[in-house]
Amino acid sequence: MAKKPKGEDTSPSVRYGEREGGGCDHTGCRSQEAYRCLYRDRRAVDCSWVACREHLRVVEGSAYCNRHASVVEVMIMSARQGNELLPPDLDNRCASLVRAVAADLEEPVVERLVRWGDANTSIINDPAIRYSRANRLQHDPGHWERSWALASKTGILLRVGVRVEDSRPETVVLTGGGTHLVELIPPWIMRRLSGGSGLGSQSELVERLAYQHQLLQALDAYVEKYGITYPGHTVGASA
Ligand SMILES: [Zn+2]
Ligand SMILES: [Zn+2]
Repeated sequence: MAKKPKGEDTSPSVRYGEREGGGCDHTGCRSQEAYRCLYRDRRAVDCSWVACREHLRVVEGSAYCNRHASVVEVMIMSARQGNELLPPDLDNRCASLVRAVAADLEEPVVERLVRWGDANTSIINDPAIRYSRANRLQHDPGHWERSWALASKTGILLRVGVRVEDSRPETVVLTGGGTHLVELIPPWIMRRLSGGSGLGSQSELVERLAYQHQLLQALDAYVEKYGITYPGHTVGASA
């Protein structure tokens, strides 16, 4: 096999993830130029690793972190032998909680966006659960998020997000636009934290629906108060 060109090679055939601020995650690396690992697991959770070109590994034209490059290589090998594997879960607690709550909210949130929109709007519904790194300037901690949006031709009218922050892995934050609408620890996690046991499937369903209802109420109240408008700040107007 030919040796891979190193470093400066910017072969256009290689696909890199989105560019990220904050620099390479590789220990000891000082590179400020960094891209997201392209790995997405079978539940649409994206890898949170960000690295420079040198610390990403390219497999069949796509750049991954070392760990996922190996996973993807195994998948490719397996597919060649006629055995398709689904990308294994990232197994991150915060991402799993986002996924569980977002799965319950999916239908009612989309139903609302349809209702709040009109013939000129469209709905953005990307199943990806993505990690955003901490942003000190905006006092935004690192968090996992799944989002939906109502958009017009000129931009986003309303963005709804379900997020879980690294520092508070039990708390679900519902956002509308840039606002934190409500922060709630799901009842099943409360029970676990207080050492309680399961309730039985019937009661757990009721509990889940009640929790879902609380989140949706916060969203409805927000839209009732502010309506569907463009975000308050326009591009370039921020301080
Ligand atoms: Zn690096
Ligand atoms: Zn990765």
